[in-house]
Amino acid sequence: MGTELRSRRAVGLLVGGLCLTHAFAQHAPHTPAAPSAASTSHQDPKSAAEQKRGASTAPTHAPNPTLPPLLAFQHIQNGNAAAVQALAHRHDLPRPLPRPAGAGRYLCAVLVCCDVDVSMHELLGLRREDVFVVSAPGPFATAETLAALERTLLAERVPLLLVVGHADCRWLQPRKPDTVADAIDRRVDTAREQAARNQQPLPKTIVQLQRELLLASSEALQQAVREDTLRVFPAELDTRRGALLWHHQRADAMPLAPVK
Ligand SMILES: [Zn+2]
Repeated sequence: MGTELRSRRAVGLLVGGLCLTHAFAQHAPHTPAAPSAASTSHQDPKSAAEQKRGASTAPTHAPNPTLPPLLAFQHIQNGNAAAVQALAHRHDLPRPLPRPAGAGRYLCAVLVCCDVDVSMHELLGLRREDVFVVSAPGPFATAETLAALERTLLAERVPLLLVVGHADCRWLQPRKPDTVADAIDRRVDTAREQAARNQQPLPKTIVQLQRELLLASSEALQQAVREDTLRVFPAELDTRRGALLWHHQRADAMPLAPVK
């Protein structure tokens, strides 16, 4: 299937572009240059006080430094929907849409299984340089991948982390009885037990577990989630259709995520 997706890649129609533009016109974040009741209500009280004290030096046109995670999530969901539609109609994948206001260096980071043989940025409707991609079997989070994600997410203020697995994953196949379990087998066995307890499919369980593991292993990422500058979404890629099936808890995609 990877070859099928790749063959339809590259420059193509702007499928869904009008829809996305409309969505962001409605939800574009307020900027300090156009103050309103809504924007001042979101202002940090401390920074407001500092601006009053130092009015002559206060930044009057400072851009919104951070893209809200839910706007970034909506952006990539729309991008994926456009990609899925294009693939279904055997069109070339659409060109990336304009970056939303407030976006930093990366719109999202993706921890994805290493044998997903498709271009994640194209399936998300993004440019290659908009996505920080870490590939790993499973994808199982390791200390090194966590460190790379943690450094990048925090330094670049990335609003989204996606943990993307897939059902047709070769690492999830049951191993032969006469083989010794290696590190991947042990991770899969643990996830398989959890899947049985939760009575849900293994691929879904894997990405949910990795999300929890990443957050449980990083106080800094937990804090970013608490402050709602970062959201972490597990997803399963339908590699035939190019569609992402989201496996997050409903509350995690609501406007105010509950503190965990
Ligand atoms: Zn895989």
